Amino acid sequence: MPAERQKIFAANWKMYKNGEEAEIFIRDMRRTAENCPHELIIFPPSVYLERSATAAKGSPIHIGAQNIHWQAEGAYTGEISAAMAADAGCTYCLCGHSERRHQYGESAEMVARKAHAAIHNGLIPVICLGETLIQRENGETLEVLYNDANASLSGIEADPRLVVAYEPVWAIGTGRTATPEDAQTACAFLRKVIGEKWGDCAQQIRILYGGSVNPDNILSLMECPDIDGALVGGASLYLEKFTKIIRCK
Ligand code: PEP
Repeated sequence: MPAERQKIFAANWKMYKNGEEAEIFIRDMRRTAENCPHELIIFPPSVYLERSATAAKGSPIHIGAQNIHWQAEGAYTGEISAAMAADAGCTYCLCGHSERRHQYGESAEMVARKAHAAIHNGLIPVICLGETLIQRENGETLEVLYNDANASLSGIEADPRLVVAYEPVWAIGTGRTATPEDAQTACAFLRKVIGEKWGDCAQQIRILYGGSVNPDNILSLMECPDIDGALVGGASLYLEKFTKIIRCK
């Protein structure tokens, strides 16, 4: 019997919103959050982490960093450490979002180091992975997921709190969404791969789908047995759309 997993709905704001907009959004979202059976996370730009955490204080809304460095400190201009993110009020952090992997050359090895740093500092990593369009067209999707999941989780102990986000690169910010069947196949496969490393713990891991999620396509995705929520980019910038997504189920 598969474990009952609480769904997660997460907003990745990327490099959008100013501090005031972030604060107002979170304040306005609090009522929705109070009556929500799901876990909710907002990933604001790093300069607004603390302000966002203050706005979310006392509510069930979690705040997460979009990126962290794996080192505790050092001469890494522009970076923030996991401890700094935790100190700013984060409980989660994204590791290996495709925009980091593809625009900033983040390798799976770096992603694993970031996930280690996150766990070591009390943050829960949301490890993102997914195939490119070319890899998909070449029929390499499952092979890519297998290799990337193993490399990105390398050396990490089984931890039921860890979250994985399946985000096909071709679906992020493009308006093209994976079909529920394809997304389910990928997420079930990821769960199997995690199970090979972590045994039964894989049944407790939340696996999210991300890639052009919107209020119209969310329900069919959430009906898939191995999809435990969504990581939402563009649509999460609008409170009305994000609220509809959260309330889909
Ligand atoms: C994302 O940023 O992780 C994402 C899935 O973006 P979008 O929803 O805009 O495709």
